[in-house]
Amino acid sequence: MTPFLQQLTQKLGADCVLTQSADLAPALTEWRGLYQGEAIALVMPRSTADVVSVVQLCAEYNVPITPQSGRTGLVGGGVPQGGIVLSLKSLNAIRSVDAANFTLIAEAGCLLQHVQEAADQAGLLFPLSLASEGSCCIGGNLATNAGGSQVLRYGTMRDLTLGLEVVLADGAVWHGLKGLRKDNMGYDLKSLMIGSEGTLGIITAAVLKLFPKPKTSATACVACATPHDALNLFQLLRDEMGDALSAFEYWPLFGMELVLKHKAAQDPFAQPHPFYALMELTSPDPQALLKERLTAFLDTALEQGLIKDAVIASSERQAAALWALREHLSEAQSLEGASIKHDVAVPVSQVADFIVETTQLCEAALHGIRVCAFGHMGDGNVHFNLSQPPHMQRADFLAEWARFNRIVHDQVMKRQGSIAAEHGIGLLKREELMRYEDPAKMTMMLAIKKAFDPQNLLNPGKIFVKS
Ligand SMILES: Cc1cc2nc3c(=O)[nH]c(=O)nc-3n(C[C@H](O)[C@H](O)[C@H](O)COP(=O)(O)OP(=O)(O)OC[C@H]3O[C@@H](n4cnc5c(N)ncnc54)[C@H](O)[C@@H]3O)c2cc1C
Repeated sequence: MTPFLQQLTQKLGADCVLTQSADLAPALTEWRGLYQGEAIALVMPRSTADVVSVVQLCAEYNVPITPQSGRTGLVGGGVPQGGIVLSLKSLNAIRSVDAANFTLIAEAGCLLQHVQEAADQAGLLFPLSLASEGSCCIGGNLATNAGGSQVLRYGTMRDLTLGLEVVLADGAVWHGLKGLRKDNMGYDLKSLMIGSEGTLGIITAAVLKLFPKPKTSATACVACATPHDALNLFQLLRDEMGDALSAFEYWPLFGMELVLKHKAAQDPFAQPHPFYALMELTSPDPQALLKERLTAFLDTALEQGLIKDAVIASSERQAAALWALREHLSEAQSLEGASIKHDVAVPVSQVADFIVETTQLCEAALHGIRVCAFGHMGDGNVHFNLSQPPHMQRADFLAEWARFNRIVHDQVMKRQGSIAAEHGIGLLKREELMRYEDPAKMTMMLAIKKAFDPQNLLNPGKIFVKS
């Protein structure tokens, strides 16, 4: 055992420093098998003080640190490139709930679902909602600035966070757990840390915003002829319902076919349609009559030909079944073979144009390619995913990834969009970031990285091709 590992073991205890390959193996792979990493140990601190000890020792011995929380990331950000893996999963306490301040303090290793449950027990809502919420953790949600299905109403993780506790590269602790709505004491380092993917500091805890719990809700799934009809519907619904509209999701017929085929789901419609949208309205007012208002709105949309059919959930069970159609899309697509994925955003007003034009370009570029462009229409986020042609070999299709990046990302940038909407850069998009990001911004980002992490020990190799 090296002196570094000996000291680490002395400080944390042998059960918190795992070096056997069987223990290390799961921490080295990305869950979809896209990346394989390497590390000398999986280190599992139990407290912020433990994290400080680990980081100080790593600084002394020049050992890189790759933080991990729930390991559900989609861009290879948690895959180690040497050094140690620092798992935050044992820091999993809800430290406090301040219902009167509409906040709670959660440690980085808390499952998102547990935070939602803690808010619920306090009679409040923590609105971040991802299909991975049973596995992903608050630390990872913060480090990736996670989005999900309620961004339209509540914003991303950055908007949902008031304060942070962070261990910096030299082991100093930034005690920033303030639950303030107004705080202009200097630079907004919280926003900088959120979305930094473990490259600027190790997040150990956060003050999260809570909201009044919805007392009424209405959920509907509609069928449309085109993405433009779905976008028009969204705009009319938002105009009419304002903030009561908390989610507006969409997917194409191919996506519906995949979910019906691979997830044994029930088609809520009597016949197939080219495009689907799912919407949810919520209100803290128990008298809000949301179902009645949504029914009247969709009746008019049907009369006007904006939608072809609609199903309004009559129970929570039915609402959950409609949501499952959307939430199973990613998994159903992976069961259909290889996918080339793009998590991108364009202005909401351009989502439909983007989907139609980019679909045409992709279909023209490779015979038999199957486009599944789905996501969060209400915030402009498109998961522009491509399934392999049925008769093509998996490896041959995946070898086309760079060519399709060019097609899809050029279309995104033409619309002043983002090539990394909610999943981050990690290993997957480093080269694309270099290609498309403003050079002045890259220079500022590199300067920030050097200021926060002069030894380049915090998640090296991520975001930047070279830092
Ligand atoms: C089925 C499925 C659905 C998903 N849906 C969505 C979605 O709708 N919206 C969305 O935004 N994402 C989604 N994701 C992606 C993923 O769940 C999110 O990126 C999530 O925020 C990652 O959290 P995690 O705890 O798993 O982080 P990890 O995968 O462990 O880590 C992610 C990144 O954060 C860094 N990191 C982790 N913990 C810390 C820490 N404490 N301090 C500093 N850096 C840290 C890691 O180094 C890595 O770079 C989905 C994933 C799956 C599998």
